Amino acid sequence: MNDSKAVFLDRDGTVVELLYDEESGYIDSAVRAEQIRLIPGAAEALRRLKSAGYKLIIVSNQPGVAKGRMSIEEFEETRRKMKNLLAAKGVTIDGEYYCLHHPNALIAEYRKVCDCRKPRSGLILKAVHEHGLKPEECYMVGDDLLDIKAGKAAGCKTILLSHITGMLMDILDKEGLHPDSFARNLDQVSNVILQAPFMHSEKRQDRD
Ligand SMILES: [Mg+2]
Ligand SMILES: [Zn+2]
Repeated sequence: MNDSKAVFLDRDGTVVELLYDEESGYIDSAVRAEQIRLIPGAAEALRRLKSAGYKLIIVSNQPGVAKGRMSIEEFEETRRKMKNLLAAKGVTIDGEYYCLHHPNALIAEYRKVCDCRKPRSGLILKAVHEHGLKPEECYMVGDDLLDIKAGKAAGCKTILLSHITGMLMDILDKEGLHPDSFARNLDQVSNVILQAPFMHSEKRQDRD
């Protein structure tokens, strides 16, 4: 089995649910372990990708500690909770890479313009190096344009989790950003990856 391929996964909004705060009207990520919930179907999809030989690697910006929204211990608890929930469904994550920095961090220790905060590719490139992966055989999957930018900068195939709308296409065109594929959830991601690996850009050209 080829062990140089991986699926890089954003965490919040991709593997675990985002939270909607009714008071502020903002969508944000979990800052307490008890807020961590897997997106329905995510574990099953990850299991399929894993059985097909893909390593599963989380690459995630987590500025919550830097912003004073949670302690580093609380952050570690959110990590453990996600891994426990996945393990209960038979999924083991092969690696986790987090950027804890933020350029305007409240906590000085994390205040930094770094190479790892997506849309930069530092987290992915570190994982590529440490796991002996070939970026061109890997996918970056996420629900944000930052994920697609980071994946492209690292030389990976990219899948944007989103409903396809005219508005989204306008934004992507404006950004000059073209994900290799779109999917609504990880179940669809696993179908895209497992049915036609590395064929999506050709398919896209056929359509043009
Ligand atoms: Mg996300
Ligand atoms: Zn960073």
